Amino acid sequence: MSEKQIRGMASRVASFGTSIFAEMTRLATEHKATNLSQGFPDFDGPAFLREGAKAAIDAGQNQYARMLGHPLLCEAIGARWRAETGLSIDADRQVLVTSGCTEALAATFLGLIEPGDEVVMFEPFYDSYRACASMAGARVRPVRLIPGVRGWEFDQRELEEAFGERTRAILVNTPHNPTGKVFTREELLVIARLCARWGVVAITDEVYERLVYRENRPHIRMATLPGMEDRTLTLSSIGKSFSVTGWKIGWAIGPAGLVAGVRAAHQFLTFAVSTPMQIACAEAIRPGGPGDAYVASLVEEYRTGLGLLGGALAEMGFGVMPVEGSYFIMADHRMLGFENDVELCRDLVVRGGVAAIPPSAFYERPEDGASFVRFAFCKRRETLEAAIERMRVWREGLIGRSA
Ligand SMILES: *Cc1c(COP(=O)(O)O)cnc(C)c1O
Repeated sequence: MSEKQIRGMASRVASFGTSIFAEMTRLATEHKATNLSQGFPDFDGPAFLREGAKAAIDAGQNQYARMLGHPLLCEAIGARWRAETGLSIDADRQVLVTSGCTEALAATFLGLIEPGDEVVMFEPFYDSYRACASMAGARVRPVRLIPGVRGWEFDQRELEEAFGERTRAILVNTPHNPTGKVFTREELLVIARLCARWGVVAITDEVYERLVYRENRPHIRMATLPGMEDRTLTLSSIGKSFSVTGWKIGWAIGPAGLVAGVRAAHQFLTFAVSTPMQIACAEAIRPGGPGDAYVASLVEEYRTGLGLLGGALAEMGFGVMPVEGSYFIMADHRMLGFENDVELCRDLVVRGGVAAIPPSAFYERPEDGASFVRFAFCKRRETLEAAIERMRVWREGLIGRSA
């Protein structure tokens, strides 16, 4: 019987209690919903990858890997980087393997950002960004991505005003979750000029780097822009491109000085990452390996699924924003007459049997995201068709209800 109550959560994590994902997943299970909420495929990754991990386990590759990453994977990441960017890279000094991009983000914030530093990031944010900033004691300077006729755009003046003496870094996620935006070269050049002017590091989250759907919107790496190689830290992972989100193998690539900071944090966060999975991933990433054909066919599948779901949503009256990359469609639901995104998502899952994500959770002021709903299309054709069928019935019911 202690007199003094024990204290629960620390303030640096308290405001990030439970995410909206947890509630939507619970409702989805309860109502046996077709799940288009969380961004993970409902099918398996390629056989060569799964067989590679099994073979590594059977070959006795089961002890700690090297702290900075298994040499085979670091080499493969370096080789792909050279092949794609034409830049030179020393895989032993400029690559770090992490437990997914999530850990790469956390280790980057903890390893490079001082308390009180400011980090510019585009809103809507991926859900771990603000938590990472909070854990590192950094101040977030949000810049809005605004829906317009040409897709999601930022206001250049707003971006310029977010930079200042205290700015240490800008975090750019392209292709972007949840909007599906792929930043153009012109937009990245605007960011690059500000980075040079203010002595700022660019941290890029490129987990969807290979999932782009439009010929005229290729994925452009910030590190390849003039003057950016020495100030860009590129983060990515295997999960999205190879449909193995549960594997949690990610990496950071950048100048040795920045990677050293991320490594210093990684050393005491996770130290080393699963050995057999790293060995399997090396084969998937190797340029000219079996991974390239897999990714090409996956992109075709996703392009088809995107067309199917996007078309159906538009027919139902949603304002479907153009999707250039990623796993997601953002759709404006204001034509359907709901108060906000959370109300719509609750009704859709409870009465319609389809789970989606209310994106207000990705905004500093929830009302800024309240007119949209996020659907994940990284699902089998049958799943998308079932969801569309259920949503059509639900939509018909709405018309009857409001009349
Ligand atoms: C999925 C996702 C991540 C997390 O990647 P993991 O490799 O699973 O840790 C990071 N950033 C964005 C934008 C994502 O969508």
